[in-house]
Order: sequence, then C-alpha cells, then structure tokens
Amino acid sequence: MQTEHIIERFSEAGFEITREQSEQFLKYYGLLVEWNEKFNLTAITDFEEVIVKHFIDSCLGSSLIENKEGMLCDIGTGAGFPGIPLKIMFPGLKVLLVDSLNKRVVFLNEVIRELGLKDITAIHARAEEIGRKPEYREMYDTCVSRAVAALPSLSELCIPFVKKGGLFIAYKSQKAAEEFESAQNALKTLGCSGELKNIDLFGADRTFVLCRKVSKTPEKYPRGGGKAFSKPL
Ligand code: SAM
Repeated sequence: MQTEHIIERFSEAGFEITREQSEQFLKYYGLLVEWNEKFNLTAITDFEEVIVKHFIDSCLGSSLIENKEGMLCDIGTGAGFPGIPLKIMFPGLKVLLVDSLNKRVVFLNEVIRELGLKDITAIHARAEEIGRKPEYREMYDTCVSRAVAALPSLSELCIPFVKKGGLFIAYKSQKAAEEFESAQNALKTLGCSGELKNIDLFGADRTFVLCRKVSKTPEKYPRGGGKAFSKPL
C-alpha cells in the first residue's frame, strides 16, 4: 500500500509519521501530479522521487524549527515546498505560503482545502513588497525558503518577516558555504547572525543556513524595484 510505503520511507529518514499524515502526503502527491499537467508545478513527478526530494527533503528542516506551534512563513513556496510538508508534520504551526505566481497560489489553495489543513494561508505576492507591511513584518518565529534565490538576495526577501529572536532557515545544497560567505554583509545589515548545518538525506547533500535574528531589520529593507537582485547587499 502506498500509505505504508510513505510511512516506511519517512521512518528510514528518521521521521515517525501517522497513517493520517501519510494519507495527507498521498493526497498531496495525487493533486501535484494531476495539476502539474496544466500548471507546470514541478519537474519531479515520479512517486518515489516526490516522496524523497519534495516531501522528506522539506521535512529535513523540521529539527531546526524551535517553535513548532508558532508562526512560520515560506517565501517562494512554489507548489508548497517546504511549507506544506512542514504543516503536515506539525499541524500546530500557523503557516503563510507566499508566491509571486498566481497559478501556484490557486493550486496551493486547492491542496489546503483537499487536505483539510487549518491555520494556513497562501497569498499571491512578491516577498519584497509585503515584507514592508506591518501585518507581516517581523511577525514570524520562523521563515523558510527553498530554491528561490542566492543567499545575499534571499536574505533581503526573507529576514524582514522574522521577529527578533526568531529564525530564518534557508534550504541550500552544494554551494552553501560559498553563498554563506558572500552573504555575510547582507545577514549583518539585516540583523542576523548565521551558521551552516548539514543534514543527510539518503547520501544527498542538504545544507541549511540557519540565521538567528538578533536585531530589528532597518526600515529601508527590503528595497523595492528589484534591488535585492540587481544590487545584493
Ligand atoms: N520553494 C519551492 C521548491 O523548493 O520547490 C519552489 C521553488 S521555485 C524554483 C521558486 C519560486 O519562487 C517560484 O514559484 C517563484 O514564483 C517564487 N518567487 C520568485 N521570486 C519571488 C518573490 N520575489 N516573491 C515571492 N515569490 C517569489
């Protein structure tokens, strides 16, 4: 049975999930493959690969999340990674999913409805625009992001959401050390101190940049007009 298989794969990766959670992952997989035909959501559609490279990989950051009932935002979530698997793992999280492409947000709302998830919202927005708004700015215990931008630019998109004392967790891989080095100025300017954390995924390299917000982000960040990308800090 597919639900048993999902439980086993998670267990091999060190995660104990219930039958209900496994059923949610299975339903998510079905929607991903069905909607992918017209919405171009992911290049990975093979069942086994989706379990490992999307679902379990998204959950690898879970041991780094300190407040598992707190507020978490996922910037550039795409088809919901890592935000939705983290929400399935920790139903007590209050989650905001942000993506600048509306068709992805339409898909996310369908997943939220079909899986019966509560306390989770998907919005169509550019992070650098809503990161200036008081209802989002410095409101989150945790901000996560995977495969969106290089760390100096990504930091400017994500760190404004994190409250003082909270964490920004960037999912990175081979080039993490290099990116971390080049993001030192950005992290400091935006109010964070950072460190690298390696977590193994069936031999593949997943490195996280774990950034602690130690002081408020100066008001002028994030800058508008695409500056986070054209002139990274
Ligand atoms: N995080 C997902 C994953 O790991 O599968 C999606 C990664 S996809 C390569 C990058 C996503 O970031 C896209 O869905 C894109 O629309 C979104 N994105 C890019 N720039 C953004 C911005 N400034 N604000 C919000 N979303 C953004």
